[in-house]
Amino acid sequence: MKIETILAPNPGPFTLDGTRTYVLDGTAVIDPGPDIASHVEAILAAAPNLRTILITHRHADHSPAAVPLKQRCHARIFAPANTLADEVVDRRIHGGEHLDLSGIPLEVIATPGHTNEHVCFLSADGDLFTGDTILGSGTTAIFPPDGDMGDYLLSLQLLRSKSPRRIFPAHGPTRDDAVALIDEYIAHRLDREAQIVAALRGRAATIPELRRTIYPELDPRLEWAAEVQLLAHLIKLVGEGRVGREGEEYKTVS
Ligand SMILES: [Zn+2]
Repeated sequence: MKIETILAPNPGPFTLDGTRTYVLDGTAVIDPGPDIASHVEAILAAAPNLRTILITHRHADHSPAAVPLKQRCHARIFAPANTLADEVVDRRIHGGEHLDLSGIPLEVIATPGHTNEHVCFLSADGDLFTGDTILGSGTTAIFPPDGDMGDYLLSLQLLRSKSPRRIFPAHGPTRDDAVALIDEYIAHRLDREAQIVAALRGRAATIPELRRTIYPELDPRLEWAAEVQLLAHLIKLVGEGRVGREGEEYKTVS
């Protein structure tokens, strides 16, 4: 399978250098990205016989270009629940399905966590298209209540169980060390969780206190996002009965 990468011109703190749209054998596209005219033209140039548009999740840096692409070449849109309007989606896809796109077999893997509807796609060669579940560098953001840290860790373990060979993320470079990268992602979240528990056993009780302890020199633009990540971990810890909450204050249960 020939995989071509088209980088969208939407760089930012969460999109890294932009959304990576993948064109498979010139006939299928994964995560068409934002509706930016030059990006849509670049996809059409790389995929003159585009038949299928696949989407990992509903976010605006992944799904909107599906609509102008479909208008231009009548490709079918395959998307999970809550992604684009029902009128434009040709088929809702679910974890466990095996798609055959004109000779390209792809397994759909449900990976809730970043968002509830998120899916990844695995090729027969072990190429895993991870959307925002795994990025090529850095970590992904989990925003509750749609994002769920407990689900996210289970999704990472499910992806690891598939023993992928390469990872094609929606942001950041392709990675040849797929299983090692997934292990790093799991370890990073468990380390963060351990830091939170240790900070709560120390002087921190509120989310801003945890943020100052755990992310002491953070870019101020990312402070709110860091606090939401902490909240995502705390929701998991409270759900597991390991941390208790009273108003704005959290403490470990022991
Ligand atoms: Zn996203």
